[in-house]
Amino acid sequence: TVGMVCLDRHHSMTAATSSSGLFMKWAGRVGDSPLAGSGFYVNSDIGGAAATGLGEDLMKGCLSYETVRLMGEGLSPQEAVDKAVYSFSDLLKKRSGKAGAMSLVCMDRRGRWGVATNVDFSFVVMTEQLAPTIYLAFPNE
Ligand code: ASP
Repeated sequence: TVGMVCLDRHHSMTAATSSSGLFMKWAGRVGDSPLAGSGFYVNSDIGGAAATGLGEDLMKGCLSYETVRLMGEGLSPQEAVDKAVYSFSDLLKKRSGKAGAMSLVCMDRRGRWGVATNVDFSFVVMTEQLAPTIYLAFPNE
């Protein structure tokens, strides 16, 4: 899945995903990527988020919505995405002994961004001042 969160000069925000879905998926399976709230979510007054990973788990947590909701509560993008990913990942592990891969990127309306993952994950940041720069994220466990 490729996901992105964008902020324009007029403070309008968008989030989008493009995905082939999970490798070897069942015919007819719908993952998280096309679902607002799970694969992506944006509110220009707050910020946006986009996800990749195991759709079945991402959908249970509505993690893109949850990340934006937490930014709306006043958490920084990094705090919000850390809390959304790691608290839900911990909950799944407690309930079923395992959590699928989950990686989220997010950005708030001021252009501050954050990323959290429970697997290794690469992402790109680009601004008017910064040429596309590739970063690597690792689980914060
Ligand atoms: N989240 C996608 C899905 O479950 C797969 C992916 O991100 O690679 O369909």
